Amino acid sequence: MRCRAARRLLVAFQDGELSAGDTTRVAEHLTECESCRTREEHLSSITPEPLRMVRPSVDPDWSQMDAQLHHAFNEPAQRTTPVWIPARRAMMGMYGLAVGVLLIWGASNALRVQSLEAELVAATTAPPVETLMPATAMQPASYKPPASDGKPR
Ligand SMILES: [Zn+2]
Repeated sequence: MRCRAARRLLVAFQDGELSAGDTTRVAEHLTECESCRTREEHLSSITPEPLRMVRPSVDPDWSQMDAQLHHAFNEPAQRTTPVWIPARRAMMGMYGLAVGVLLIWGASNALRVQSLEAELVAATTAPPVETLMPATAMQPASYKPPASDGKPR
């Protein structure tokens, strides 16, 4: 077997995927060729070993488990406040505060709009002339109305 062919088969050789004949030929080449042997060692150093299914060693001591379960079920549960509840309360408080501020702001805006509308109506609606200038002030000071007979008084 030539180096090129052997190197092409190296990964399959390591994974045990070659036929018996190819396995024998690659193994023979590796015993003869130091260059390919070095490459094979390098390959095996960088290729992870297949993970083995390891069955965990469990000692099923059922009586102890039963005792623990019994204890857990019969012990009065301690009421502990989860960490997130104060945070949620704070969030709700902030939310309520924001809603309140927005409501107050909106109400004050509505009042302001109402007063602006009233100002606009007052500014664009002319008051009666008498309120601006009484009738007596409409005559110049030097004006003397003629007497009914036409002579000045
Ligand atoms: Zn070789």
